[in-house]
Amino acid sequence: MMAGSQIEKMTQERQEAFESYVPQMNASIGKIFSTGMRIAVSRPRLLYSLSKLYGHQRKAMKRREELGGEGLVVPPVLILSVTKRCNLRCKGCYAHAHTWGTQEELSGEDIDDIIFQAEQLGMSFTILAGGEPLVRKDLLKIVARHPRMIFPLFTNGMLLSDEKLERLRDLPHVVPIVSIEGDRCETDMRRGEGVYASVMEKIDAMNKANMVFGASITVNSHNFEQVATPEFISSLHDRGVKAFFFVEYVPMDRGTEHLEISPSQRMRLLSVIDRAKATHPAIYVAFPGDEARFGGCLSSGRGFVHINPNGGLEPCPAAPFTDCNVRDTSLREALMSPLLKTIRDNHELLDESDGGCSLWRNRDTVRSLIDGTTSYQMTG
Ligand code: SF4
Repeated sequence: MMAGSQIEKMTQERQEAFESYVPQMNASIGKIFSTGMRIAVSRPRLLYSLSKLYGHQRKAMKRREELGGEGLVVPPVLILSVTKRCNLRCKGCYAHAHTWGTQEELSGEDIDDIIFQAEQLGMSFTILAGGEPLVRKDLLKIVARHPRMIFPLFTNGMLLSDEKLERLRDLPHVVPIVSIEGDRCETDMRRGEGVYASVMEKIDAMNKANMVFGASITVNSHNFEQVATPEFISSLHDRGVKAFFFVEYVPMDRGTEHLEISPSQRMRLLSVIDRAKATHPAIYVAFPGDEARFGGCLSSGRGFVHINPNGGLEPCPAAPFTDCNVRDTSLREALMSPLLKTIRDNHELLDESDGGCSLWRNRDTVRSLIDGTTSYQMTG
């Protein structure tokens, strides 16, 4: 049983980590680049693009610090869900669990403008999500116009045609991140018959084309023993995967709470990843596991914000609340939304030491806090 003083010390440490996370976050972004450079050493064309990108990133960090000095919290990461549409129907899909209105999804002009504003504010990464982003025929044209921004493109891989891969080879600032659940059985069970074989085919094609790409693995209690292992990481690394996103399953679908991993499983996953960093050079992100290093959940503008396919600004894809729409207001104003500020100011809501997604787990508390503070809409 922890003594009072120990709890006090721990709370103090978490508070300090919560408040002093920005330099650490920027240092992590710097580390992503140095790892990227190490990976790109054998690819001169990529090395050149990466060094140019890094130049832009340093300016972006400065811009965020400047705006921070003016009291505006600008996160380095924007998660942009460009569509709810998808060519698959995966079990437990968080996008389908959302009730994003039937309002028309963002137009190409909207998306172009949002990215332009994000660049002006000093955001470094725009994660392209969905639904399946590649169902949008205009997407690659739009991102090609923003060579200073880095776009991790989260895709189920099924629409990565040879023609698309050819196009992506010329866009070094766009990094395909294909979704996989484990081996053939795990992947096809959740995503549908034949998906695993198709994804592996695309992975081999990108590796053969000397592209930089990654994999996104949704970690749940069913596939944990398979994916949270050095063997699994090694098998993908050997096939050219150079970025690993381990995303913990969030039970947005009622009745799937048993699929959430436990705090001890999370610790095991983080230690497997730490060991893999030494043996298999790549970029590793554990979501939300890594957030503890930054004093807790990075949503609500601390590390990232989410824009849903209708333009609603949300604290996080797993937190179905929105109180403003970037179609009606600038991104800068949206970042000052009472909803985001209320959540940031109540950082105990962002404490994830008990595992799982804190905002999802505390959604009723969030609701009680924002009731009367701002007029908001639930999107899930
Ligand atoms: S590919 Fe993604 S968005 Fe599409 S159904 Fe599967 S989990 Fe949902």
